[in-house]
Amino acid sequence: MLSSVIAIAETEYMVALDNWVSNMKAQRENDFGYPCDQQLALADFYQWYVESGMSTMVLNNAGDPFQPSPHISSIGFEEEVLRFFGPKFGFTAEELWGLVTFSGTDSNNHGIYFGANYLRSLTGMEPIVYVSTEAHYSNMRLVDLQGLELRLIDTDETGAMIPEKLAEAIDPSRPVLIVFAMGTTFKGGVDNQAVLNQIIAEKSPVAVYRHVDAALFGGYLPFTDRKDLVDRTVQPYDSIAISAHKFIGLDEPAGIFLTTREVLERQKSYDVPYLNSGMPMISCSRNGLIPLKLWWMIQHDGEEHWTAEAKEVLENTEYLCEELERAGITFWVNDASNTVFFAKPSAEFVHKYDLATDHDDRLGGDLAHIVVMQHVSKDKIQIFVNELKQEYEELNEAA
Ligand SMILES: *Cc1c(COP(=O)(O)O)cnc(C)c1O
Repeated sequence: MLSSVIAIAETEYMVALDNWVSNMKAQRENDFGYPCDQQLALADFYQWYVESGMSTMVLNNAGDPFQPSPHISSIGFEEEVLRFFGPKFGFTAEELWGLVTFSGTDSNNHGIYFGANYLRSLTGMEPIVYVSTEAHYSNMRLVDLQGLELRLIDTDETGAMIPEKLAEAIDPSRPVLIVFAMGTTFKGGVDNQAVLNQIIAEKSPVAVYRHVDAALFGGYLPFTDRKDLVDRTVQPYDSIAISAHKFIGLDEPAGIFLTTREVLERQKSYDVPYLNSGMPMISCSRNGLIPLKLWWMIQHDGEEHWTAEAKEVLENTEYLCEELERAGITFWVNDASNTVFFAKPSAEFVHKYDLATDHDDRLGGDLAHIVVMQHVSKDKIQIFVNELKQEYEELNEAA
């Protein structure tokens, strides 16, 4: 008797899950507003995960990814993942340090925390953090969380930090911790590191730490001919944040944080004997499955896969722009960006395509954007532009 009761209950809850998946599948087709890859290919990984018996074990990557771990962890794979991505951003094997994080926000948290500690250790002074007003809000939130002094710098219409405004704001008697937005959230605006670095140099502050927030752009730029934008041999930054569930194509929130050993050595390490390790990173327990999946993706899909996807994403962005132009629709797009923005259509349309919205009086008021990710194909773009054109015509008639 008992077993049949369980069987019915199991069936019911599995039906609940299946119904939920059907809705998810329908939704993802038109998921244009947020930077997620909605055509993932992790099925073989999950099959291995179950068949190998890994699904019966806990994985926990507590500890330094570059130190051997005595515990049940995937830390060896995590180090290889970091060693794969490090050189893509211009880090040499000798100078590279970093970790696989829980998200872009977690990577920014490490960038700001490591930067502040680095500057304190170097100068004995509290830094001031400089961030543009259009940078992702996590940067402001984290500066607040860490009790640091924040100076928000105005942006131009493209979303980039205005160099003159930074020059006015800099206090050279205190260390400068600058967060460069490499792709602002709404406009895909890019802070011009070369120009801003020159401004900082002219002010000659006591010390400087540069963190790059490249959550979305940091996924694809290294695989394109615009890799110079995130290459630290060209732009001499100290750390960088990348989200792994955006362009890189992980199926859950995750991130990568890369920095140098020089920065690491100026952290407060808090030795933890039972972990056989100094613990400079913020979280103790860390996800061991994420680095394992990333390692699998590197082996299974490899660099060629990301290179082809990056090319396609930028080509499809160009296609979208051409189609918008042909339809006579005003739009804006930044250099090397897959984010295209335009006047906000009706609420129904915004809902249908799950578009993100914002407001900028300099560009005529309410705006919406589309992020051209892997699943935003040319076919879908064509339908989208046709519908958007009709939308604007209806709005004009109503006006
Ligand atoms: C998405 C994003 C973040 C936040 O990353 P999460 O992985 O969502 O925490 C930070 N900065 C930028 C520029 C982003 O696009």
